[in-house]
Amino acid sequence: MPATKPPPESVLISESCLQHRIRELGAQISIDYENQELVLLGVLRGSVLFFADLARAISATHPSDPDCGVQVRFEFVQLMSYHESTKPSKVQLIRGGSNYLEHRHILIVEDIVDTGHTLKFLREHLETLNPKTVKVCTLLDKPAQRQVPVAIDYIGFEIPDAFVVGYGLDYAQQYRNLPYIALLEST
Ligand code: 5GP
Repeated sequence: MPATKPPPESVLISESCLQHRIRELGAQISIDYENQELVLLGVLRGSVLFFADLARAISATHPSDPDCGVQVRFEFVQLMSYHESTKPSKVQLIRGGSNYLEHRHILIVEDIVDTGHTLKFLREHLETLNPKTVKVCTLLDKPAQRQVPVAIDYIGFEIPDAFVVGYGLDYAQQYRNLPYIALLEST
């Protein structure tokens, strides 16, 4: 049964703004990881649309010039931090990264950093897998509700303290396929 929630109130970040910023992020990541192998580690499910667009914005290694571009590999983890509500709860690992992460450069691709608990949990989990480096790229940063300090290397947009949906982000599994970010309600 669909949740009886009102539709998103207003567009916070338009589709064209999102795409423009993601191209900028991809260009920066391409410079920072040039000639290297990079594991993009997507956090399911909210980051999937961002992940897909960001991956395509990173310059790929070309077969005719393997010394140019970034060799990208896809991996995913699934974490649960919100349980059908707009309040945060305990973080749980549902599906983990593979052993392939050992001695690799990892870029965590997140949809949004809010309290910071999810990212802290994921970083601690990754450390047990012995990676070479771990950096973080988040589409959205909501610093107003931060409870634990977390380092973020690439930020798409800093947003105000509000619950947002769209472009992968849900409310009770709804709204994920909106091509823009919308405000659902004020907190
Ligand atoms: P944190 O652990 O930093 O509080 O929360 C991270 C996770 O909470 C995100 O990956 C996302 O799933 C969820 N979250 C935090 N803020 C929002 C929001 O405004 N909208 C939606 N849809 N999810 C959010």
